[in-house]
Amino acid sequence: MLTREFKPWHVALFAVKYAHLTITKRPVLVNFEVTMRCNAHCGFCDYWKTDPSAKASEVNSFADAARYFNPMVITFTGGEPTLRRDLEDIVSGVDRAISTKYMTLLTHGGMLTPERARSIWKAGINQFNISLDYLDERHDKARGIPGLTNKIMGVIPRMRAIGISGIRFNTVIKRDNLDQLLPIVARARELGCGVNFSCYTDSKNGNSDGTIDRAQTKQLEDVVRQLLELKKRKRGVITNSDYYLEQIPRYVRGEITEPCRSGMRTIHINPMGHVKRCPDFPTDFHWSEFRKYEPIACNACFYACRGEAQAPLRVSRLRDIMATPVMTDPHRS
Ligand code: SF4
Ligand code: SF4
Repeated sequence: MLTREFKPWHVALFAVKYAHLTITKRPVLVNFEVTMRCNAHCGFCDYWKTDPSAKASEVNSFADAARYFNPMVITFTGGEPTLRRDLEDIVSGVDRAISTKYMTLLTHGGMLTPERARSIWKAGINQFNISLDYLDERHDKARGIPGLTNKIMGVIPRMRAIGISGIRFNTVIKRDNLDQLLPIVARARELGCGVNFSCYTDSKNGNSDGTIDRAQTKQLEDVVRQLLELKKRKRGVITNSDYYLEQIPRYVRGEITEPCRSGMRTIHINPMGHVKRCPDFPTDFHWSEFRKYEPIACNACFYACRGEAQAPLRVSRLRDIMATPVMTDPHRS
């Protein structure tokens, strides 16, 4: 899962840092929402309705916050982070601020060119996470960006050709794309990418169109079983833990009752520098006044960030971390 720039001995450094953050109860993953503005039009998220004037209140640097938390993983997210012309400055500022970290960028990919990707990569991003929920025009429709799927499929080989090895699809599992999950993994393998799945929730704006129906549980269980089998055979493509995938049918059946540990292992910092325990909760304080979170009795979502925070550290997880996606011949399995 780590990209080629990392050597096996980096794993030992990451392990030490992980242990330190665990013992001191500090967040392992910090998500910097660099903007709430977005030029997509997803039905399950209202960020695209953010007034353009919000740009004026976005902070110019997250370096001090990064230094303060000194996490192991940092994600630059939004909104759509590539809307920020100073994104490279923000990324390189954080890159200089801390060491032994893995930095990812979450984007819808609609504005990604090889040139922009290269400059973001050079600024310090280790992995591009590109949203992809369908392999056809349904994705364009769902995101409100005409031609988006073709654009993503076109830019990835060009990114790889210039040496960008860390590319992953972020795929939301929802009511009408259960048939797409295995084909998306197959396409990712052809392109030399990874796939990270997360479960749909209506907790962003109450839109339950994508919520997986309990009547689909059998179909969901079948797909999850196939994903787990695939994972065993080809480590490094599907990047979720086995645990997370195994729990998704439980979530759909309404059986997840354990408290949510969001805010303990992961936090979100909004464009003004204020902290929230998860993407869908309101902010609580400025990062400089951070207070540790406690578990909360909430089951509004089963996002990967929530589920992975609960995942036990199994041997399979260590194998996931060491594995790298390998490009396959599309005509062979
Ligand atoms: S889900 Fe992402 S791409 Fe869609 S509107 Fe929200 S921020 Fe934009
Ligand atoms: S379950 Fe946790 S991560 Fe999900 S909305 Fe509730 S507090 Fe946030």
